Amino acid sequence: MEKQNIINTSFSSSWTRGACIGRGCFGTVSTAISKTQGESFAVKSVDHATCLPIQSESLENEISVLRSLTPHLYIVQFLGDGTSKEGTTSFRNLHLEYLPEGDVSKNAPGGIDETLLRRYTACLVSALRHVHSRGYVHCDVKARNVLIISRSSGVKLADFGSAIKFSKQTATAQITPRGSPLWMAPEVIRGEYQGPESDVWSFDCTVIEMLTGKPAWEDLGVDSLSRIGFSDELPVVPVMKLSETGRDFLDKCLKRDMKQRWSCDQLLQHPFLSESQSIDSCRTESSPRYVLDWVNSDEEEEEEVERSEWRLNFKFAAMARICKLATTQGVNWEIDGWVDVRSSNPSEEEEATTVYSDYNTSLNPYGDVADESARIDGSVYPNRPPGNRDSAAEVPYEVVMILFLLMVYSRITCVSTEATLITSCCYQFHNKDMLSFNASLSFFVCLLVCTCDSIGSDETIIYLVR
Ligand code: ATP
Repeated sequence: MEKQNIINTSFSSSWTRGACIGRGCFGTVSTAISKTQGESFAVKSVDHATCLPIQSESLENEISVLRSLTPHLYIVQFLGDGTSKEGTTSFRNLHLEYLPEGDVSKNAPGGIDETLLRRYTACLVSALRHVHSRGYVHCDVKARNVLIISRSSGVKLADFGSAIKFSKQTATAQITPRGSPLWMAPEVIRGEYQGPESDVWSFDCTVIEMLTGKPAWEDLGVDSLSRIGFSDELPVVPVMKLSETGRDFLDKCLKRDMKQRWSCDQLLQHPFLSESQSIDSCRTESSPRYVLDWVNSDEEEEEEVERSEWRLNFKFAAMARICKLATTQGVNWEIDGWVDVRSSNPSEEEEATTVYSDYNTSLNPYGDVADESARIDGSVYPNRPPGNRDSAAEVPYEVVMILFLLMVYSRITCVSTEATLITSCCYQFHNKDMLSFNASLSFFVCLLVCTCDSIGSDETIIYLVR
């Protein structure tokens, strides 16, 4: 409150009035520029000398309501109030943030599409919910009082000149209807009640108005009042312009029995609004505007991370599987081509074992292939480092044979890495029986040489035979 008074003083003492941007029943709205800060703002003014008492009352009411409402993202910001002497005329002024785009009714004479409607509607419900939660009823919700921030950022509720402090008592006593007749709820026209539920009806008429560009009820003077207040009619919802969800949303507010109308809290949960932010921002925004946008892009990022993790783990699982089938010493996958499994450098073998072991202990959250490798090498032999089995009887020799024959049969011509693995496996398998190993190896090498068009390098063959 104190802050607002300070702003008020500075505003009232040094600003210049600009062009008129709106003229309503209760005052004139102009642009203004602060002399000290050079900022623009809007001023709603009434001429002290010539205004009707109701105009002055309305402005004072608006000042007092805005002052007591805490600021809200979707309610026009109150900057202060004051008086000014301009020539011979003295004005009572309300200072507001300036929204250069103006109101929705001016901006979209033909109505707006559903995507935009959802965004604007969400802002409006949020603003109204705030007003109601502070114990106020706006009493004049309509497109002329909805100011555009921007197409992507939404709208703000304005014009609190008719707003009232709500209490059950004042609401049920015989009331004097407040607001604009075509947007008034039936119970307001009948003079029975004006409360948050009545705002919801007006809000619904405003949604139809934003969609079509025309008021929800045709202006037929007194006839309109009797149709709204005393018939069973409801405004026509443009079915062609609205999805089923949208129609259902409107249906929740357009109830003649006000007890059946949804509250703003409930409306915010309706799929028409709860789904809107993520859908809209994904389709229309290049940069995130809402919290859900960030969630959305985070999710995409997470999915991509998961996919790459999966690919990585699958690769490691495949490597582990081949390693398990082919060698008991582990494989150093960093080296292309042949690896001397009889290397005199023990650290190299150690490194290969570490790679394999690390995979089995840490990288195994996805996929059956990886699971199975871990089970075989981790759980079944819990006390042995994986890839370091010392008994050749555990190697599935037949599998190696079948694989090898299949390779030959398929005339695979470049098998250096695979052959290394198979050879090393055979070697490990037969390391206690070199004679039979050499015999079988020679057989395979001959077979390979005869069958394949090419088999890597000569060195390879020499090495294998040796
Ligand atoms: P009504 O007859 O609808 O009750 P009013 O006299 O209370 O009108 P407002 O509705 O507050 O006056 O303002 C009239 C018009 O001025 C609005 O419809 C809008 O186009 C414009 N306007 C009001 N406030 C602002 C603002 N802060 N920024 C930009 N334009 C504004």
